Amino acid sequence: MNPNCIFCKIVAREIPAKIVYEDEDLLCFQDINPQAPVHVLLIPKKHIPSMAEIQENDIHLIGKLFFTASKIAKKLGIEEDGFRLVVNTNRDAQQTVFHLHIHILGGRPMSWPPG
Ligand code: AMP
Ligand code: ZN
Repeated sequence: MNPNCIFCKIVAREIPAKIVYEDEDLLCFQDINPQAPVHVLLIPKKHIPSMAEIQENDIHLIGKLFFTASKIAKKLGIEEDGFRLVVNTNRDAQQTVFHLHIHILGGRPMSWPPG
């Protein structure tokens, strides 16, 4: 738990969120500023600042994160039409919250290349 981290505070229930999935390692909740009809964030409960700082002993957790993202996409009904997983990392990718998170986006066609 990082006391200055907004997502750690959501994990600790110190600030509210609309939670869509939880297990012992992961938490998924609605993005407060949705960019698509479906836009949720999936995070490890462990405070890892970004994909640039994952360690070898996080490999199992990161695998579980992506496996669970797929399960949540199915649960939210976007797996057949399609969905996009986004992990913004550091400045050039415009990461704003430095607690690792996967954006799960769906419910509309997406464009490519991303902005
Ligand atoms: P990123 O730019 O990848 O770091 O994305 C951070 C995301 O967190 C943005 O999409 C924000 O809308 C979202 N966000 C920030 N604060 C909250 C919050 N308190 N509850 C839910 N989502 C949040
Ligand atoms: Zn955190």
